[in-house]
Amino acid sequence: MITPLDILTLKPGREDSVLRRHPWIFSGAVRNVDGTPQPGDTVLVRSSQGETLGAAAWSPDSQIRARLWHFDGDRAVDAAFFRERLDGAIRRRDAITADGQTNALRLISSEADGMPGLIVDRYGEVLVLQFLSAGAERWRGPLTDLLRERFPAAAFYERSDGDAREKEGLHARCGFIGSSELEFPCSVLEHGLRFAVRPDTGHKTGFYLDQRDNRVLLGSMCAGAEVLNCFSYTGGFAVFALAGGASHVTDVDVSAEALALARDNVAQNGFDAARYSQEEADVFVYLRRCRDERRQFDCIVLDPPKFAASKSQIDKAARGYKDINLLAMKLLRPGGLLFTFSCSGHMQLPLFQKIVADAAVDAGRNVTAQRVMTQSADHPILLSIPESWYLKGLLCRVD
Ligand code: SAH
Repeated sequence: MITPLDILTLKPGREDSVLRRHPWIFSGAVRNVDGTPQPGDTVLVRSSQGETLGAAAWSPDSQIRARLWHFDGDRAVDAAFFRERLDGAIRRRDAITADGQTNALRLISSEADGMPGLIVDRYGEVLVLQFLSAGAERWRGPLTDLLRERFPAAAFYERSDGDAREKEGLHARCGFIGSSELEFPCSVLEHGLRFAVRPDTGHKTGFYLDQRDNRVLLGSMCAGAEVLNCFSYTGGFAVFALAGGASHVTDVDVSAEALALARDNVAQNGFDAARYSQEEADVFVYLRRCRDERRQFDCIVLDPPKFAASKSQIDKAARGYKDINLLAMKLLRPGGLLFTFSCSGHMQLPLFQKIVADAAVDAGRNVTAQRVMTQSADHPILLSIPESWYLKGLLCRVD
């Protein structure tokens, strides 16, 4: 029996963002809801004129009251719908794994793949799943079954935690789905280099997959260079720099656990330990120490955590970015390279450019950007959500 769906009607004049294919409906845009949908249930979305615009997952506890699954009128949201979505997203990523040298990637990237709240990362034979919205939570069972059909040999680990879930009124849930003998860390390949990943205790789902392309770029540009890798986490950039022929790499991070994995990653790729060192330190403090000791480098990576979690934190974040960029520029030999990033969705590229430009003026250095960098293609940017272009990077030559 098909039960008719509940209906969410938008306020007059609040249809624009849906018509522009932005999938979020904020509480202030809702005129009324006919029926009593439960969290995660599918509701039809209608304009104030009564036109059906699409179907959304209802989320009464969130400011984002509903997230659209699609913009195709009254098309059904069911297992067949999700199968099509999953197949499409996975197929679009075939090129990343095609040469057999990479087996770690984001398979499903939430809104950008038409599945708000669902993240699926593949680490070799482990899939890490995050159900971060009421809608994704509602479909957890069928989505897991569909993924099992496609990846019958994989272990499934759930990392449904973090702020996003709390805002949706959901409790954290972490652990294997079904039984598994597997122990973490697990091992993955990225462009033929090997990395240990901890989906259980690591950041995000365990690894910064979004930096894959930029690690390759660094590796291609640092032969013979002395490299300082700030905010190193588990040494992703360090391993690529060593593979690219860097004479020496120093990883800096506050996390002892991350650095322990970084050391394993350098060792398991067969690099001479003499070419590598690490500092468990606050980057803000460490860069000042290097300045006072007149240390110099040929290449510096700055990949800090998100400094601005909301629009209101932009000014404070800007000061943080300027500080580390200014210090790093002072430490670079003439002609040195600075790979500088911001992963704050609220920090747009023109502002980031201005911050780095201001740092160059204060450092008294002539700085040109050689390349603009962004997140790798398995983290697509949804053009209708500007914040989904969250990773911005400038590769600068510092003279
Ligand atoms: N470049 C990494 C990802 C960096 S994530 C990669 O490619 O994998 C940001 C890292 O910054 C985390 O490992 C976190 O532990 C570290 N961190 C956060 N604040 C810090 C600080 N003030 N000083 C040093 N490390 C910091």
